[in-house]
Amino acid sequence: MPFRLYQNELYVAALILCITNLLFTFLQRRTDKMHNKLYILMNIVIAANAFSVVLSSFVWEYKLTSEAAFAAERFSQFSYFLIHLGLGPMFAFYVLYASGMERRVSMPVQIAWGAPFVIAELMLITNPFTRWMYYFDAKRDFQRNWGEYLVYACCIVYFVYSFITLIFSWKSLTWKKRVALGFFFVVVAAGVLIQMLYYELPVELFAEALGMMGVMIAIEAEDDRIDSDTGFYNRRALQTDIAAYLTNRKRFSVICIKVTNAEIIQRATGSQNTDILSQILSDYLKSVVKRYYIYNATAESFILTMMEQQEADIKPLAEEISARFEQPFRFNEMDIPLTAVVITADVPARLHTANDVLAMADYPVPKKITRKVLCGEDLDYLLRRVAVEEAVSRGLKEHSFEVYYQPTYHIDGRLHGAEALIRLHDPVIGSVFPDEFIPVAEQIGMIDLLDNFVFSEVCQFWQSGIPSEYGMDCINVNLSVMHCMQPDFVTVINQIAESAGIDKSRINFEITESVAATDYNVLSALVTSLKHEGYHFSMDDYGTGYSNMESIFSLDFDVVKIDKSILWSAEKGGIGSIVLENTVRMVQQMQRRILVEGVETQAQIDLLRRLGVDYLQGFFFSRPIPKREFIDLISGGTYKVPEPEPEPEPETAAEIPADTEEPNTD
Ligand code: C2E
Ligand code: CA
Ligand code: CA
Repeated sequence: MPFRLYQNELYVAALILCITNLLFTFLQRRTDKMHNKLYILMNIVIAANAFSVVLSSFVWEYKLTSEAAFAAERFSQFSYFLIHLGLGPMFAFYVLYASGMERRVSMPVQIAWGAPFVIAELMLITNPFTRWMYYFDAKRDFQRNWGEYLVYACCIVYFVYSFITLIFSWKSLTWKKRVALGFFFVVVAAGVLIQMLYYELPVELFAEALGMMGVMIAIEAEDDRIDSDTGFYNRRALQTDIAAYLTNRKRFSVICIKVTNAEIIQRATGSQNTDILSQILSDYLKSVVKRYYIYNATAESFILTMMEQQEADIKPLAEEISARFEQPFRFNEMDIPLTAVVITADVPARLHTANDVLAMADYPVPKKITRKVLCGEDLDYLLRRVAVEEAVSRGLKEHSFEVYYQPTYHIDGRLHGAEALIRLHDPVIGSVFPDEFIPVAEQIGMIDLLDNFVFSEVCQFWQSGIPSEYGMDCINVNLSVMHCMQPDFVTVINQIAESAGIDKSRINFEITESVAATDYNVLSALVTSLKHEGYHFSMDDYGTGYSNMESIFSLDFDVVKIDKSILWSAEKGGIGSIVLENTVRMVQQMQRRILVEGVETQAQIDLLRRLGVDYLQGFFFSRPIPKREFIDLISGGTYKVPEPEPEPEPETAAEIPADTEEPNTD
């Protein structure tokens, strides 16, 4: 064989692998970050080494005797070692940066990491005189000397560095990264070892190139992290990056840009494509920070991570971004006026977890906050929101939800029934009211579990016989839109009712008016099918929405619950009382019974009696109370006025009327 192919094919393969790695790295523009650069450098080193070996091999085979060829051979050996020695430290630093650990190794220590490399290079440079590493014998054959084992020792030092880094960063690495780096270690270690022991089997470079390919596929490739059109990172990338930053104790700030009128894009462009917003903002955002610090967290929000910056440093930038949104954005020859809220926070000082950061993007800014740039204490709503979310999840696991009952009365003072109202007593954040946690439960998709819990408690209560014993007609159960629009809703509800064995007509579901307005068709079908099963229905919070009267009254409701705000404003006379009177008259003409909630005073009762409504509910009679107290209340037993709950509204009275004709208001 004229050309020692059995050796060279491994080098050629290594060369091809490295070129492939480089090609894909550049094709996908993964060149920005420190570890990208190290990765490219390592591939270049391996490729250059492989190339020089192949080249010198040709020279060696064909022109053995020429002096020039021998010089070339010596030079190629020398340059091989010169650059190959860099691979160890490069890999160690690669692991350091790719795992995000660089902040945890101080600069002096990082510099000290270079020591073995410097020693090895010095040995190499002095080798022509010392011949400690290698030499050419009389027959001009390459011979290794003891110094080369020292070089291997240096290599081992870098392996150990990398390995330790890997162990320390283990928690912050995704399993893909772990496998890729582990694979690299094993393959390269095997290659180095084989080549050290059997010089005739030069697999080291090939093993390194192969390991690099594994690293490219699993670490450098970011297809699952990146949006190919805009080049922004996606939500998953945000989650893993923040988690890794936190594990590596990095300090940084985040800027969240929440576009508040994204629906305008659909109107302007006529396209449903949710990527358009990213495209519109792409150039602008890239002019603010480097592309790889931009995350597209939700369809309407972007998060920018600002490493090593404090909130105070980025405040001006946040103001600038906010100001930019006062001008329209240009897209396809159109001016699109976008509005946005910009939120800034320090991590981990202010927002402590990846979830908190995602919450910036996910949660709506409360209406009462009107500023365009939020920072510092403005973010309390977020943390509270996250805490409530955790409390809801915890509550289901740890059974910290409880059903309270608030009695309802006939206008003549007889007990009519009760409304079941859910309460959360959380061990961490204390009592939370449904107005706060119901929307959270809806957003995190747990509302069905809550409503079902309430419903089964109510069924069991009814099944105990106590409610009917004391003359209750029914118990009212609130339903959330989110829940009752689910396809298996009726089936699940029936299962619960049937397994408790209750009479379905004793259950009165409450649905709010606003729901009726939005999903009228679905709701209509739902009401019909539930009424067919025997349940009753109330329309809750009547008077708070702007629903179409005709639609509303074509739904088969038994009772309309007039919202407390209507009652309260009626008391002040003027327009309010006209609204109440007309509402009552209209509902009566529609042949529905009327319940008025929020009754707090005797004067209100007198007013409602004059108007001729059917039922009353309110603090005047009782606040919502736990089941035991409720039983005491309706049984006229040893019921005591409960400790007032810290409700938002001030309490007026909470004593049970012995005779509701003359309620006790003290
Ligand atoms: P809602 O259905 O309108 O319930 C009536 C609310 O008015 C209750 O507040 C009740 O405590 C309060 N209330 C009753 N009478 C008076 C009064 O005289 N004065 C004042 N100031 N307030 C009175 P709560 O229990 O905080 O519930 C708030 C809302 O949370 C409910 O409004 C309902 O929409 C929702 N909710 C409560 N429990 C559930 C549930 O089990 N499932 C669902 N989906 N929603 C629930
Ligand atoms: Ca209700
Ligand atoms: Ca209501």
